[in-house]
Amino acid sequence: MGGIRSAPFFSRYLWGREWMDQREEYEMSRLTWQKLTQLEPRLLEVLKQAQAVKDDKSERSFCANRVWFGYDEPGPGPRGLKSKVSSLVGWCSVNAGHPVLGSSEAYDLAYRTVYDALPYCRDCACL
Ligand SMILES: [Zn+2]
Repeated sequence: MGGIRSAPFFSRYLWGREWMDQREEYEMSRLTWQKLTQLEPRLLEVLKQAQAVKDDKSERSFCANRVWFGYDEPGPGPRGLKSKVSSLVGWCSVNAGHPVLGSSEAYDLAYRTVYDALPYCRDCACL
């Protein structure tokens, strides 16, 4: 007993504390857009692209989903803001396996934030 024998226990205890702290720091129910973009700043660029989309009423209708899914963008390949979001957060993203960015909570939050930045659908087929 004594110094050397108790060292492994002590370090395990420390490791456990760190793990707990990290879990607490990334408490999923308290995940925010700010926290998300600190971890993956490229999300800000995607949000900026969504905010830049305007419905200037020059067309007979506007559809947020067309922009979101990128129906008007040339294919093949990933199109739309949705593919940009899912390339950065969630199970199929470059950050898959990251405790926060790879989670479905992160995906849902990014999805909502970017989609909500688009103008509302107007006189489109999905209304
Ligand atoms: Zn629509």
